[in-house]
Amino acid sequence: MSKNKSSESVKVVVRCRPLNRKEESIGPAGGIVQMDLRLGQVILRNPRAPPSEPQKTFTFDAVYDSSSKQRDLYDESVRPLIDSVLAGFNGTIFAYGQTGTGKTYTMQGVWLDPEKQGVIPNAFDHIFTHISRSQSDKQYLVRASYLEIYREEIRDLLDPNHGNTRGLELRESPETGVYVQDLTSCVCKSIKEIEEVMNVGNQARAVGATDMNEHSSRSHALFLITVECSQPGPDGRKHIRVGRLNLVDLAGSERQAKTGVQGDRLKEAAKINLSLSALGNVISALADGRSGHVPYRDSKLTRLLQDSLGGNAKTVMVATLGPAPQHYEETLTTLRYANRAKNIQNQPRVNEDPKDALLREFQKEIARLRAQLNHRRWRSKQKKEQMDDEAWERDGNEEEEDEEEVEEEEAEQFAKLEEQRLEKENEAIRDDRFLLAGEKQKLLGENEKMMGDLRKRQEATEQLTARYKAMESKLLVGGKNIIDHTNEQQKILEMKRQEIAEQTRREREMQQQMLIQDEETVELRETFTSLQQEVEVKTKKLKKLYAKLQCIKAEIKDVNDEHVRSRQELEQTQNELTRELKFKYLIIENFIPPEEKNKIMNRLMFDPEEDQWKFKPLVPDDSKSSQMKKRPASAVGYKRPISHYARVALSMGAHSRYRAENIMFLELDVTPPNPSALTDGEQNQSPSLNSSPTKDKGVSKSQSWCPSQKSMASSSSNNSLAGCQTATTAVAM
Ligand code: ADP
Ligand code: MG
Repeated sequence: MSKNKSSESVKVVVRCRPLNRKEESIGPAGGIVQMDLRLGQVILRNPRAPPSEPQKTFTFDAVYDSSSKQRDLYDESVRPLIDSVLAGFNGTIFAYGQTGTGKTYTMQGVWLDPEKQGVIPNAFDHIFTHISRSQSDKQYLVRASYLEIYREEIRDLLDPNHGNTRGLELRESPETGVYVQDLTSCVCKSIKEIEEVMNVGNQARAVGATDMNEHSSRSHALFLITVECSQPGPDGRKHIRVGRLNLVDLAGSERQAKTGVQGDRLKEAAKINLSLSALGNVISALADGRSGHVPYRDSKLTRLLQDSLGGNAKTVMVATLGPAPQHYEETLTTLRYANRAKNIQNQPRVNEDPKDALLREFQKEIARLRAQLNHRRWRSKQKKEQMDDEAWERDGNEEEEDEEEVEEEEAEQFAKLEEQRLEKENEAIRDDRFLLAGEKQKLLGENEKMMGDLRKRQEATEQLTARYKAMESKLLVGGKNIIDHTNEQQKILEMKRQEIAEQTRREREMQQQMLIQDEETVELRETFTSLQQEVEVKTKKLKKLYAKLQCIKAEIKDVNDEHVRSRQELEQTQNELTRELKFKYLIIENFIPPEEKNKIMNRLMFDPEEDQWKFKPLVPDDSKSSQMKKRPASAVGYKRPISHYARVALSMGAHSRYRAENIMFLELDVTPPNPSALTDGEQNQSPSLNSSPTKDKGVSKSQSWCPSQKSMASSSSNNSLAGCQTATTAVAM
């Protein structure tokens, strides 16, 4: 990617945590990671390699060893970014590394210990301190959201029902870029409030998880802060700048084991890996610079971080390492990943007067409420003036707020006076002996009504005032102390610390540049007095270059090995997925009728927003209302549609001719009279007894409506005809 004036690269810093007790007890003393703080280098030793093998060296913007303080990392590497966010840039900090290497420690740290507070609490402090110290013509609105990506689903951690609802959707707008639809966002007025938001989210995160460590190693947590600032510009109008800050604690970078698992477990593992491998691919594509296509759309995480990687944000990546020898491979992978990210170029720019700034809406609403209140006060003042018949003196040069307070007091005073006046009138009416009882009642009633109105008005004004105040309190105004520790000494101390951090940063940059220059110019500085000396020097140089060559060769081999490994893994996944696909095909081809399959296939469509196949609705939306809900005209008054022919048949009464409307009927199958029984003189027995179902086998038998020639002729068939006609009627009704 070509560097232009406004572009800057992603800052990458590396941090190594101390050995923990378990690691200390297992391995040999000391870890495999060494750091050169002055040069910003990490030197990694392969514990299984012979000592002659050269160690691997990586250079970063800054490195922090196991003794580093949270504050150092913040002041040196994060503070400038937060300052940019406060100036209206988008900013992202993400922690990347294997589980247990200190991502959460770096981002959150230990909340109750000021020394061990991580990036997020320090950023809260920084933002609100900045606001309290800014000039009084600036207005701020700070909002926070907290979400989690788990198995490629976005969950809103501030929504109490987040466990029950489906994952949130991503949307894209030309104004704000990619955003999460319906994400809760809380307006925060102080450090305490934003900390509360963080706590609520953290609790929500832990609730669903059976094992928090396991859960956090498989999910990405994103804390989003939006700082809107309005300030009068040179043109006299208020301009709004919006800075968005993403604080990202990524899932553990270790590879989720995919081998040997099948079905849902396989899919889960694949999904967990998806976001991180997609992030890796995006970083590779951006760092490479030659490939035109950057696969942002491959995962939710990469879409959300689109701005931060190769976009208009400033980005800091903190790669965390563990020093234990048993994690050599993972540590090396992390370092390579981080090394690649260094090459990404962003084009940060200030978000000036975006259309969706919430601050603008707040300001409008506050102005509207204020106008309403003023109108009310003005009305009550008019009344008072009428009553007292005296003008209220007022100093026109008063401050706006003082004026407001005075007016509020005046309004209250007026209400009180009015109430007192009505009370007095009431008493006077009661005491008046010349008034008739009825008249008294009437006057008292009128006064009561006036009192009620007055109270109602007062209540409405109070509500309006409360709303106005609540709204206004959400806007933070510069120049007011939200935090106490703004005394001068502290300020100076902080400034000094920042200066030192800045200086260290510059020093390191210079050192790194010198190192590069040294290597390039070594030849130029050397003049040789004798051939012997020249040979010596050149041999030395040759050795040095040879060592470098070996290093690079080893690196190439390593990278190749890694490629082979990941390729094998992908092939294995592919095999497993193919096998599953074949299984599904088998079911579809052998157990689902082709016409049903075709119906389903015709209804399916792909939704690129949600990255899913979906069913088209059975009935097109526009015709839904009219077509389906109306009852067919031929069914009015009947249970089901019936033809005109059949209706005529019904009205004509029973006739075998109209039975064509039936498909089948049930008929009592009366066994033909037994001739021998008849001869036995039993013909006098009632036919009902004879046809009783208890007596005959196969009494009821389903039969086609079309009687055979024989049964038509027989008398029993005639009996059944009548029965059949009733059945027809019953069916038709
Ligand atoms: P991850 O979030 O990467 O899985 P954690 O932040 O939970 O890792 O860290 C694992 C453990 O290591 C925690 O107990 C944490 O306190 C400790 N730890 C991590 N980094 C440091 C550090 N720089 N200094 C001291 N302890 C650390
Ligand atoms: Mg963690």
